[in-house]
Amino acid sequence: MTRVNTKINRVLHGTIALGSLAVTTISDIPAAKAAEVVNLYSYRQPFLIKPFLDVFTKKTGIKVNVVFAKKGMLQRLKAEGRNTPADAVLTVDISRLSALANAELLQPIKSKVLEKNIPAQYRHPDGIWFGLTTRARIVYAHKTRVKPGEVASYEDLAKPHMKGRICTRSGKHAYNLSLLASIIAAKGEKAATDWARGVKANLARRPQGNDRAQVKAIKEGVCDVSLGNTYYMGAMATNEKKPVQKTWAAAVNVIFPGQNERGTHVNISGAAVTEHAKNKANAIKLLEFLSENFAQKMYAEQNFEYPVKAGVEWHPLVASWGKFKADTINLNEISKYRATAAKIMDRVDFDG
Ligand code: FE
Repeated sequence: MTRVNTKINRVLHGTIALGSLAVTTISDIPAAKAAEVVNLYSYRQPFLIKPFLDVFTKKTGIKVNVVFAKKGMLQRLKAEGRNTPADAVLTVDISRLSALANAELLQPIKSKVLEKNIPAQYRHPDGIWFGLTTRARIVYAHKTRVKPGEVASYEDLAKPHMKGRICTRSGKHAYNLSLLASIIAAKGEKAATDWARGVKANLARRPQGNDRAQVKAIKEGVCDVSLGNTYYMGAMATNEKKPVQKTWAAAVNVIFPGQNERGTHVNISGAAVTEHAKNKANAIKLLEFLSENFAQKMYAEQNFEYPVKAGVEWHPLVASWGKFKADTINLNEISKYRATAAKIMDRVDFDG
């Protein structure tokens, strides 16, 4: 271990608040015994990743230090420049990964293991970022107020029969921007603009709240359908801390849009090695570990997501929503339309 890393270990030991960042050491291995480290900036919550990071440490002897970053990861990496302690990042949504890539904060990785385990559509063609789990952006539909066949595609949401029946979070949230970018990729900017305008015209209320808040609104009769990521269904349906969310989940069916067309928009949670990684080899080992069967199953199950690796078993609740056809476009293609998507949301005044 270099002197730099010893210092980092000391700094990262325990939990301290650093603005919006909480710093947590999650390995049980005493620092004196840890010959190797990898330092991780994570947008994923510690409870989601600790169980399998502990296994990684036991298996490899590499201690994992995690800085949990609720926001501001890009700004922080930028400010730290080549002095950053971060070797790797874990984050969600292609828009955030590509923002880091565009700011030249990541470096390309060549790994046969990652290339074998992760389908090409869910990793950067040059190895700059890698998807580790997937989530579909689906339609939540009230069980009785929405009749079978009323919503079979994203396009249906923009049609007149949905007037006053849709709830959604902000059009500028990463999740909705990625969905809109996928529509631009499939149908072009003009059609995507018409779609955004059409959905806006059908909203039951101004965009507000998170994905779960929309399902609550469906349950309360504010609207009939909403856009949301799949894992929130799992999170609500099993929520022992806030059991009221079980009643929200019970009020809706999940619909995978586009099954007769290009398929449902799928996004990722992913990882990447930072441009200035001091422990690059360890960072690659960690990414490879996260792409293998053991971590894949655990990682996906923790948050009701889909493993990115083929053949890994799904959580029974996730499996109960059924198999579906995913849009096969490479997420890197989608990321190219992110700025245009944001422009369209402004143009149609989606949140206004
Ligand atoms: Fe989310």
